[in-house]
Amino acid sequence: MDKVVSVSFGELALKGLNRSFFEDKLIKRIRNVIRDIGKPYIYRDQGKLYIEANEGNIKQIIDKVKKVFGIVLVSECYRIEKDMDEMIKYSISEVEEAIRKRDIKTFKVECKRADKKFPMNSMEVARKIGHHILQSVDGISVDVHKPDLFVYVDIRGKSYIYTEKLKAFGGLPVGTNGKGMLLLSGGIDSPVAGFMMAKRGLRLSAVHYHSYPFTSERAEEKVKSLAKILSNYCGSFKLYSVNILKIQKAINENCPEDEMTLLSRRFMMKIAEKIAIKNDVDALITGESMGQVASQTIKGLNVTNSAVNIPVFRPLIGMDKTEITEIANVIDTFETSILPYEDCCTVFLPKHPVTRPKLEDIENSESVLDVDSLINEAISEMEIIRIED
Ligand code: ATP
Ligand code: MG
Repeated sequence: MDKVVSVSFGELALKGLNRSFFEDKLIKRIRNVIRDIGKPYIYRDQGKLYIEANEGNIKQIIDKVKKVFGIVLVSECYRIEKDMDEMIKYSISEVEEAIRKRDIKTFKVECKRADKKFPMNSMEVARKIGHHILQSVDGISVDVHKPDLFVYVDIRGKSYIYTEKLKAFGGLPVGTNGKGMLLLSGGIDSPVAGFMMAKRGLRLSAVHYHSYPFTSERAEEKVKSLAKILSNYCGSFKLYSVNILKIQKAINENCPEDEMTLLSRRFMMKIAEKIAIKNDVDALITGESMGQVASQTIKGLNVTNSAVNIPVFRPLIGMDKTEITEIANVIDTFETSILPYEDCCTVFLPKHPVTRPKLEDIENSESVLDVDSLINEAISEMEIIRIED
């Protein structure tokens, strides 16, 4: 008997001929996240992936692997020979183990037979194992509709016994869908937006704007911590840190006060686009959500959007703050996001920002600035930080 972690992938299976491309990316990512836990052997057994583990490292492996996009379910299993006596023995010990942990009155055996050469069919296997569990374990009965405990028996190249299917995030392996540049603020929304697009297979890089020394080093550290948490899901990436104080001052001195936020947003978009194109990145990602703040009315979004030519993904556009916060909690960015450090946008915050801006007006205000050289100067001074997962 050995302990292994089984990994099922959902959507991946639909990818036909591309399947091996997706699977290879997935395996590579799994190898990467568990690289510090020895070098466990990973293999395929008829449609599922298995990671060889032991009692000492199995929880750690599961914890890491659960965060890999492309994976739907993760289970801790016994791997045994395809031998009925063995299967019965380990099914019983799984039930006994589960009963020690929680209150279990009913169970059901569910057998999947991928190996069609196995002499009994899945119904027969399930019935036989169920019968032996009933005989050996006191105080439990079978309930085929709503059992307290499922005993799963998979018959493949080997046979696998387990009782828990842990839900992972699903999605597609990072890097199977090109690259996206996340505009990462220190707020709640943008880390969630990055997570959601990485889940769709995008490889991330990120750009953060600050107004040092008006914004503090602590604020900068906070953004790095958020990036670090994101890297648990999407792997190592580059964080471009750009000082836009000079740009904000130029806007402040030369443009209408109520357009401050939108004008600086446009600069943020343009700078991000420029860095993106230079690095072969095909899209920008923001945490904007319809109507959330003055700059995110439909007209505000149009003004921001028209600053650039590459696609801008806004995965949170139709979500409200409660829904976004729920995800932030699940992915563990929330507590960091709410640390109360100042953001560059708050430095020159207008008292009454425009909510129904006209693109023409905004472009007019912008035209008094030397946009290109302000952008080039900011980019030439930016810092590139490598975020390691
Ligand atoms: P929250 O709304 O929770 O404060 P936020 O900072 O993401 O989070 P907004 O101020 O609404 O929210 O900004 C909208 C989007 O613009 C952000 O989601 C982010 O993608 C981008 N953005 C804002 N400020 C910055 C910044 N300082 N650096 C990089 N991107 C930013
Ligand atoms: Mg926001």
